[in-house]
Amino acid sequence: MKPSIKVIGVPDDINSSFMRGSGAAPPLIRKALYSDSSNLFSESGLNLDKDGVWEDIGDILLLGEGAVENFKKIKSFVKGVINPNQRLISLGGDHSISWPILNAHLDVWSTLDILHIDAHPDLYDNLLDNKLSHASPFARIMETGRVNRLVQVGIRTLNQHQREQAEKFGVEIYEMRDLGQFSSLSFSKPVYCSIDIDALDPAYAPGVSHFEPGGLSTRQLIDCINGFNGQLIGADIVEYNPKRDFHNLTAMVAAKLLKEVIARIHYDNR
Ligand code: MN
Ligand code: MN
Repeated sequence: MKPSIKVIGVPDDINSSFMRGSGAAPPLIRKALYSDSSNLFSESGLNLDKDGVWEDIGDILLLGEGAVENFKKIKSFVKGVINPNQRLISLGGDHSISWPILNAHLDVWSTLDILHIDAHPDLYDNLLDNKLSHASPFARIMETGRVNRLVQVGIRTLNQHQREQAEKFGVEIYEMRDLGQFSSLSFSKPVYCSIDIDALDPAYAPGVSHFEPGGLSTRQLIDCINGFNGQLIGADIVEYNPKRDFHNLTAMVAAKLLKEVIARIHYDNR
């Protein structure tokens, strides 16, 4: 049986260090996806309008401001959805949600390769006295010792602490200044892709909390998602902040990335 693909919204932005707002993203990404200004075909030719290709199962209901309770809820929800025949794509929310989501994936897949596309390495041991900050999910994930490889693309904000964390965890980093080297990425284990919209240059995607100039173009990000060798089994698209957007441009970018990710998972898991 072909694995099916589900999409959920995770409207949680309480662990955002600088600015909130990404919690409002999921319904706006859906609205952009179904906008009559475009269509529902991926670049590879998959019709997302066809029954049975994927299913939107709505947003996780998060009632409070407690990160620990929210993360428990997110992890158990994700664990209830994914299995060897069921793939999941999550729409953030801030990047902190990738920790409980990936934690759930690691309970289903014994190990994973992670492709993390971001301006930031998100490896802080502890930022602003919040170990669950959106600046820390990949430190928490690597501490489990269960990840085969963490490959980061688009990075342009390494400080001394995060360099040391990357070294400690054996993270492979392709910085923006080394652009071009990540065109031939190849993975041996099932691949989970975590996409922080701020990997893009703010010129392409202004709807993010942290403007970090010198980033990827939308074209380069799509090519990164579609270009690696390996089997994509899950993904998240996080950090779209509607408060900072112009004319819903970034919502359209997030929706475009969602289409490409659905199609890649569809073709990789046939
Ligand atoms: Mn991030
Ligand atoms: Mn980021």
